[in-house]
Amino acid sequence: MVRETIDRVGVVGAGTMGSGIAQVAATNGYDVVMRDVEAEFVENGFDSIEDSLGRLDAKDALEADPETVLGRVEGTTTLADLADCDVVVEAAVEDMDVKKEIFRDLEAVCDEDVLLATNTSTLSITSIASPLSNPERVIGLHFMNPVPIMEGVEVVVGEKTSDEVTALAHDLAADLGKTTWESDDKPGFVTNRILMPWINEGIRAYDEDVASKEDIDRGMTLGTNVPMGPLTLADHIGLDVCLHASETLYEELGDRYKPAYLLKRKVEAGDLGKKTGRGFYEY
Ligand code: NAD
Repeated sequence: MVRETIDRVGVVGAGTMGSGIAQVAATNGYDVVMRDVEAEFVENGFDSIEDSLGRLDAKDALEADPETVLGRVEGTTTLADLADCDVVVEAAVEDMDVKKEIFRDLEAVCDEDVLLATNTSTLSITSIASPLSNPERVIGLHFMNPVPIMEGVEVVVGEKTSDEVTALAHDLAADLGKTTWESDDKPGFVTNRILMPWINEGIRAYDEDVASKEDIDRGMTLGTNVPMGPLTLADHIGLDVCLHASETLYEELGDRYKPAYLLKRKVEAGDLGKKTGRGFYEY
């Protein structure tokens, strides 16, 4: 049995994705408890929410009052404060050991009928749920970045995830104003399985002098009607994030997912894309 009346949403991790998920839940009327390991990280999460709400409000793209939305979010560094949440979405670092430990802790704190979701981009839902005595309640809710802007959410169904939990995950995403699609728990799910080789091939095409970076991006945007070409998109996602996702896929699926040589070199050089001011482009 899974609890179907959801008033209070717990979010684990107050980084890029966790703060975005907290913001979207609060904007849609839910009370939110946002947890990170340090008070400073929780504060950063609040700052991101405030900035994002301000930008949306300035564009008249926010129906709710920013102060009211912010007032619905409670910050904490104590996991036990998630005890009275009706659903929890984990958006901590992309590390299997960290995620397993978080889910073990959540199992100890949350009632048995609370759905536990992970926002992992590439890790197996079945593995994350494996230490739990009730893995049926674990599912992937893969929000896209930036969460307040992107409409899509990938629902990833683990080996043990129950039909009831899957249905509730779709309903919850819809209540957050999102549109879902479903993927089996296979490496990279639908999105990253297809996106990462596309990005790596764009990087290889650049490294192998097929065209300039601008022409590669222009070719893909104008030629295939996507909003960003592979090099611009990689810079936006973060080259370290792309490399990490590519390495996970490479480990699971073999050679066709081998990360591009230049992607590794850029990450080693600390040129991680937009967030460091330099990736394939300068910002
Ligand atoms: P981030 O580094 O911005 O934030 C992660 C946060 O988790 C940090 O604030 C960190 O302090 C916190 N954290 C670490 N261990 C914790 C713990 N035990 N309890 C609570 N908080 C903890 O990372 P992010 O980009 O927000 O990514 C979070 C998750 O979302 C990852 O699994 C990532 O793969 C996934 N994801 C990221 C993107 C993206 O584009 N950034 C897109 C989709 C999914």
